[in-house]
Amino acid sequence: NNEQAAAKAAAVNADSGAPTIFDKIINKEIPSSIVYEDEKVLAFRDISPQAPVHVLVIPKFRDGLTELGKVANHLVLYADARHGEILGQLLYAAKIVAEKEGIADGFRVVINSGASACQSVYHLHLHVLGGRQMNWPPG
Ligand code: IMP
Repeated sequence: NNEQAAAKAAAVNADSGAPTIFDKIINKEIPSSIVYEDEKVLAFRDISPQAPVHVLVIPKFRDGLTELGKVANHLVLYADARHGEILGQLLYAAKIVAEKEGIADGFRVVINSGASACQSVYHLHLHVLGGRQMNWPPG
């Protein structure tokens, strides 16, 4: 189907470690609606929200690895033991976002990893979703 085809197409370029649109957002070259920012993490509203609150939390972390182990200029996937600290910071930032957005009593954090999960931007990101009843399982 269309979703699968788009996901596969996005994955083709993913392992190059090339910059993505999120690099432009980090560098403030394109605008975003920032909810939270610190030295290592940026959180901004998803351009196509799937819930009343839909915020993306991304690492500003450099020198990540791609799936095939090539060095990327950003964290594409969570790759190895070096990334434990930034992963913890991302999860904690998700909680800060939930509190700021008033959904701390019930929210969902999602990582789409790879084509089968319909990852479309190959810069690691957490989706923070809430503000409505979430259903299980997700599609
Ligand atoms: P993925 O499908 O898990 O890779 O999620 C990528 C997300 O990035 C999608 O939910 C898109 O709507 C979102 N997105 C893509 N481009 C932008 C943008 O320029 N600003 C904010 N969100 C974006």
